[in-house]
Amino acid sequence: MRASEVINVPATEGRAVSVPASQAFRIVDVEGNQVADLFAFNAADVGEYHSAMHTRAGVSHLFPKVGESFYTNRRRPILTLEADDTPAIHDMLIAPCDPERYQGLGVEEWHASCRENLEIAMRELGHDHVCHPASINLFMNIPVAADGSLGWEPAQTAAGDSITLRAEMDAIVVVSACPQDIVPINDRNPTSIAIELLE
Ligand SMILES: [Zn+2]
Repeated sequence: MRASEVINVPATEGRAVSVPASQAFRIVDVEGNQVADLFAFNAADVGEYHSAMHTRAGVSHLFPKVGESFYTNRRRPILTLEADDTPAIHDMLIAPCDPERYQGLGVEEWHASCRENLEIAMRELGHDHVCHPASINLFMNIPVAADGSLGWEPAQTAAGDSITLRAEMDAIVVVSACPQDIVPINDRNPTSIAIELLE
């Protein structure tokens, strides 16, 4: 499928896009080793949104496999994973980064974060108050050991790797090119993400 529209998400920033039901779209790691935090809301009622814990209950995996869906807090499918052209390493355990996360890591000045990117992107669509769901952390490499401990490793994606999703309802999708440069998930070099709406 070819792209009918491409939205560039600059490094450390976020963008929101309205995606009608049945529209497919691709999230591309443009330069590689970059995490994309994705949020999805019901366009008709942003009180319904993608929920990681409901998705895990729905698919009985830590992250959906190709052909499986992501579910909302009302247990309805909102996105389906159609294709995965990456090493298929993603995370849905870790919270999106926020100002407090960077303070905790010793950053004293303002630092861009996925939570602020979500708020800014939704405000531009007229949603001044949104909740902060757990993010779908595309390309994020958090290995889970047998004893339950978690690692923080660089994303394994190469330049141009992508996943393809399809909206199951009219949705607002927000993508943040994660600004994290303190821990190595983005190889300490945050870069851009692209959203391609497919024909
Ligand atoms: Zn982040």
